Amino acid sequence: MEKRYIYADNAATTAVSEEVLSAMLPYFRENYGNASSIYKLGRDAQRAIETAREKVAKALGAEPREIFFTSCGSESDNWAVKGTAEIMAKKGKKHIITSVFEHHAILHTTEYLEKHGFEVTYIPVSDKGLIDPQDIKNAIREDTALVTIMFANNEIGTIQPIDEIAAICHEKGVLFHTDAVQAVGHVEIDVHKQGIDMLSLSGHKIHAQKGIGALYVRKGIVLPNLIHGGGQERGKRAGTENVPAIVGLGVAIEAATRNIAEKAAVITPRRNRLIDGILKLPYTRLNGDRDKRLPGNLNISIEGIEGESLLLMLDMNGICASSGSACTSGSLDPSHVLLSLGLKHAVAHGSMRLSIEEDVTDEDIDYILEVIPKIVERLRSMSPVWERMMKGEDYE
Ligand SMILES: *Cc1c(COP(=O)(O)O)cnc(C)c1O
Repeated sequence: MEKRYIYADNAATTAVSEEVLSAMLPYFRENYGNASSIYKLGRDAQRAIETAREKVAKALGAEPREIFFTSCGSESDNWAVKGTAEIMAKKGKKHIITSVFEHHAILHTTEYLEKHGFEVTYIPVSDKGLIDPQDIKNAIREDTALVTIMFANNEIGTIQPIDEIAAICHEKGVLFHTDAVQAVGHVEIDVHKQGIDMLSLSGHKIHAQKGIGALYVRKGIVLPNLIHGGGQERGKRAGTENVPAIVGLGVAIEAATRNIAEKAAVITPRRNRLIDGILKLPYTRLNGDRDKRLPGNLNISIEGIEGESLLLMLDMNGICASSGSACTSGSLDPSHVLLSLGLKHAVAHGSMRLSIEEDVTDEDIDYILEVIPKIVERLRSMSPVWERMMKGEDYE
């Protein structure tokens, strides 16, 4: 079969779309005004920012004044968690609940807070990568300041029972934040209906550029200022606005949320064909619940091989895939997400994530399904672990 180029790592980042790029371009050279300036050039920039804010709000079921632009998803997560921690500590609430398999933008933030006198409960996940809302209910205490649970996991794509978790938090009077960076544009979201108090999103996962994000903060919640300086973002996050990036995010989120169901109807069968095809290989397993997962995500462990070798050979065959989290690739520690499912280290090491969108065609799927078994056979034939497995010996 002829070699193809297939981008199957949209959970790591996405290409800026034509639509987004052309919306952004005028704001670099013609409409370069500072949004704080009084003359028309400035007012135009201001108007462009507010139009983008309206688009983001509409996509989430929020009000424009509940949307704050940030520089990325990580910044939004940091602001929500540390900001809430700061205001709630004044009320004597210094306990935070999160899950063991959050993105490091959350986990490293809660670890930081632990060093500064906060207590954190890390909720475990099931072997299918799902959180039991009951566990959250049981973990909430008098001094709980915040519950932060991701909407969809970035490595295994599992979608969490956000409505139930939000309802429990409200019943107990605890604020609820969700890292929805992977969910936006793939799952229907309505923050008001779903009872979400704060939500983080990122532009570069939905075909806007890298370095732009947003935080939704329900009105009535007053987070501390993140950057002190000018009056931008209602004085909460100073610094002259990145107008092109903000405009791009507005267009990107509008496009991403326009036809979620139609996109899923195209992508899901292709994704399922990939899963079924790869699982025909012996000693493989799908990580994460098969149904409660993002349409384009699959994460499979293939025993007896090294994930990194598999990725390199996929790359040689023109296929861009990932071992899970781009942030941790290059490190030899197996993914904390896969370990949280109860996988043995050796199994977690042999894992691969593909995250596809509509541009990956049925022919591309055929190609991937032809390439992977050949690579796996070759890697296993060279693997001492596989040899020991086949002899029924212990390995780890
Ligand atoms: C990518 C990602 C982030 C970080 O977003 P950046 O804009 O890259 O900082 C946070 N959380 C999740 C779940 C992600 O997938």
